[in-house]
Amino acid sequence: MSWTATILTLFPEMFPGPLGQSLAGRALENGTWNCDVRDLRAFGLGRHNAVDDTPFGGGAGMVMRADVVDTALDSVSRQDGAPCVYLTPRGRPLAQADIRRYAAGPGVTLLCGRYEGVDERVLEARSIEQVSIGDYVLSGGETAALVLLDACVRLLPGVMGSAESGVEESFSDGLLEYPHYTRPAEWQGRTVPDVLLSGNHAAIARWRREQSERVTRERRPDLWAAHLSHSSSRPSVQEGQSL
Ligand code: SAH
Repeated sequence: MSWTATILTLFPEMFPGPLGQSLAGRALENGTWNCDVRDLRAFGLGRHNAVDDTPFGGGAGMVMRADVVDTALDSVSRQDGAPCVYLTPRGRPLAQADIRRYAAGPGVTLLCGRYEGVDERVLEARSIEQVSIGDYVLSGGETAALVLLDACVRLLPGVMGSAESGVEESFSDGLLEYPHYTRPAEWQGRTVPDVLLSGNHAAIARWRREQSERVTRERRPDLWAAHLSHSSSRPSVQEGQSL
């Protein structure tokens, strides 16, 4: 059984969308993963297949009904261990560790919200994970689902060209990645750091490590603090770690 993304959405045409191209698209074609899209409208109620209603307590907008979402989820065959995730700005921030966990399992079921979101009770009743892709508000969960899936699919076995490219990258050890350079060695008067042309692999590794630490410290004090508290709680294995 290949890794399966089951997507519940009011806009099924949005999938696989950009994931039909490039790495993810090839992986979809060769069956490394599956995109099983379910139209929430098909589970709507009454003559108009209503999926939403006005919020109790008043206020603007509409809320997706618990019963409709519940029936839609019932239609999804239960894959053992495949988590169900609701994309929402109220969720915990999605991180690479979650992506690794999802990619390692049989797949994910993604619930894409629209309007003001989904009735809280179905999220509780189904123990649905609530995940946000960042501190901004999208018009719907579909683009967030595409982001989550893009990050998962590239980690599936055989999808990325080199096995290494998933290991040494941003967040793999809690740090952002070092900067990259390629030919030409001089461009518009800008040169490449000498060490990268030296052929000294130990020196290059040391320089990259320092750059990773510098950029993390400067741009992401939150990640840097977490990294420091991690590395002080276990013996340092990294030589040449400059703080
Ligand atoms: N009223 C809600 C926002 C609704 S936006 C609030 O203030 O929390 C409509 C839908 O877009 C949501 O149900 C959710 O599925 C999706 N969405 C919006 N922003 C998102 C984000 N940052 N991460 C993940 N999903 C998001």
